[in-house]
Amino acid sequence: MSGNSEIRVAEIFGPTIQGEGALIGLPTVFVRTGGCDYRCSWCDSLHAVDSEYRDRWKPMASHDVMAAVARLSGGRPLMVSLSGGNPAIQPLGPLIGLGRAQGYRFALETQGSIPRDWFADLDMLVLSPKPPSSGMSLDSGALADCVTAAGNVETVLKIVVFDETDYLWAKDITARYPGLPVYLQPGNHTPPPPEDDSAEVDQDGLDRRLRWLTDRVTRDGWFEARVLPQLHVMLWGNRRGV
Ligand code: SF4
Repeated sequence: MSGNSEIRVAEIFGPTIQGEGALIGLPTVFVRTGGCDYRCSWCDSLHAVDSEYRDRWKPMASHDVMAAVARLSGGRPLMVSLSGGNPAIQPLGPLIGLGRAQGYRFALETQGSIPRDWFADLDMLVLSPKPPSSGMSLDSGALADCVTAAGNVETVLKIVVFDETDYLWAKDITARYPGLPVYLQPGNHTPPPPEDDSAEVDQDGLDRRLRWLTDRVTRDGWFEARVLPQLHVMLWGNRRGV
């Protein structure tokens, strides 16, 4: 197998429930890939982003990834979430084809910086453009190209909101895509350091932000947006692999 067709895998785990966004609560196996073209100030997945951890990312052939997913699910097809890092960096087309032929479904979450033609083979594309608090700047053209690449695949926008600036930004970006469902979630301001996934979460602070965001959306009459917590953080804090 050539290196070019291998996927850099940071971790594969599950089944657990999807903790956020449109598929919240759904039993899922996660394939987290290594490497990201962004470096958000509050990234909660640095172990899959920082090149310091690169030697822990295992290059895997698509069929080996599917074999690992099938082992975890007991061979029963379920939703597979492709996350990262930015999974759009990886050659995931063959994996999606292989898994779908076996009855598995695939959702992919990306910030929308790299459009790929195989987005059209997914079951769901979750575009999560990063707001100003991340310290990153939006490539509007790339985001639009991602929406186009997905074609008829169900595509949703999921935006993390830390403050008023992020909120207004989210309104502006989502207004450009009136046909796409919008999911908002308060940001985790106490993300785990990469070497310490047991680090405490400020759940009270998260709850306050969730109430603020709920109030902001309803007062604003933004009735198309859905506000959700991160369910896995409520249940397990910053722990990984759950
Ligand atoms: S895009 Fe996601 S994975 Fe990449 S640095 Fe930002 S939060 Fe982390």
